[in-house]
Amino acid sequence: MIDLRSDTVTRPTEAMLKAMMAAPTGDDVYAEDPTVNLLQSELAERFGHEAGLFCPSGTMANQIAINVHVAPGDEVICHRLSHIYNYEGGGIARNSGASVRLVDAAEGAVPAEVIRAEVNPEDSHFARTSLVCVEDTVNKGGGAVQSLKTLSEGSEASRALGLPFHLDGARAWNALRKTGEDWTRYGRLFDSVSLCLSKGLGTPAGSVLLGSKDFISEAHRTRKVMGGGMRQVGILAAAGLHAIEHHFDRLQEDHDRAARIGDLLAEHPAIDHVARVDTNIVIAQLKNGRPAAELVDAQHSAGILCSAFGPDKVRWVTHLDFGDEALGRVLQALHSWH
Ligand SMILES: *Cc1c(COP(=O)(O)O)cnc(C)c1O
Repeated sequence: MIDLRSDTVTRPTEAMLKAMMAAPTGDDVYAEDPTVNLLQSELAERFGHEAGLFCPSGTMANQIAINVHVAPGDEVICHRLSHIYNYEGGGIARNSGASVRLVDAAEGAVPAEVIRAEVNPEDSHFARTSLVCVEDTVNKGGGAVQSLKTLSEGSEASRALGLPFHLDGARAWNALRKTGEDWTRYGRLFDSVSLCLSKGLGTPAGSVLLGSKDFISEAHRTRKVMGGGMRQVGILAAAGLHAIEHHFDRLQEDHDRAARIGDLLAEHPAIDHVARVDTNIVIAQLKNGRPAAELVDAQHSAGILCSAFGPDKVRWVTHLDFGDEALGRVLQALHSWH
């Protein structure tokens, strides 16, 4: 099967496995795993932050960040499309006792004027707004890359209001590969950043949370409370270091292959609309309310896995284990479906 359900389905390469086997390790709960420490400090430095924390998953990295930034009863400003709201099991309420103020701006962005309009006044009638979260790329927005101008203005507006500005950067790698933006300049827009190593970069697991020394020291405590302290996890950190060096540039290939699929679908008679393909995600809407399952089943019969993404939308995600031969088969199968 060609699996395009997500970029999380990749298997570690031979070279990655070798790097993992060679990694020096120690007990990371005591902060004594040299490979974890190297990954944390290297990413912190490259993204212009003081410190980093290795986490088992992107969900945990986001949830830890939210937990450190907010108090029970507070409110978090985030987009209606955001992963932290849609796909983290209601964790904002469950883990941190906070509520959300959902915003609806175009393409998953949270622009400065929206932040200024949605922040609650300092008045005991209202929940205290204490965090702004943004996502880049926007998963539910078809992998859309946020404009640097919108992010910079959002950052400025948040900080002027005394609100920390958190980035769910599960796929920030794809955004940075696409824009060529300087990692440090980009990272400094945010007070905390979560980065996934197991999406486009292709490691078996792991995310890194970045922030100030004080923030990361609180995050370390919260990770322990959530049960996310691991031991000789340098084997995973080594996969991350390997992937940052060897799998970042090649993200362009994933973007190019996604664009080929998007181009074909945009011309397809049974497709109403394809969300702009910025990076490695393609989301297409079927015409006349035809159910997504029709296309998902047709792809399945052709040996291709993709996902229903709403009643009449289908999603494909390109990745490290998806090459040109497989692309040819996908294009052929879509071409012959009616
Ligand atoms: C995948 C993803 C995450 C984290 O997911 P995990 O499966 O917990 O690693 C967070 N945010 C976005 C936008 C994602 O796509």
